[in-house]
Amino acid sequence: MGNSKKQDIRFIGYEGENCEVKATSPLITIFNDLICEDGKDSVTKIGILGTKPFKEKPDECPCCQSKQMMGLEILGAYKGVLVWQCMKCSERYLRFDKAKTNRLLEEVKDSYTVPEDWGYLSPDEFS
Ligand SMILES: [Zn+2]
Repeated sequence: MGNSKKQDIRFIGYEGENCEVKATSPLITIFNDLICEDGKDSVTKIGILGTKPFKEKPDECPCCQSKQMMGLEILGAYKGVLVWQCMKCSERYLRFDKAKTNRLLEEVKDSYTVPEDWGYLSPDEFS
């Protein structure tokens, strides 16, 4: 519904309001909801500009030093945390190297963009 969700991240299974969340309880999100800007690859598109992977959840955000770091699981891409996100400044970080993350995201991208495009066709475009 609508096309204004580009900045939205749908948090499924998000628990707690104080962001005291552990790496073992990842947020599950849908790839389309992650996309926040155009980029040449999927990693860039979801707003990850850094290339340094963090195998473990960073203790604090490398950007704003907040400890409210969160793992994001992306439906269809990878079973488990794929990216880390700071709940304070919304910076996102890689868990795996960029090439691998890109590959995983590319797969899920196709399965979400196609039905999405159909939904945006207005009846006028058919006549
Ligand atoms: Zn931060």
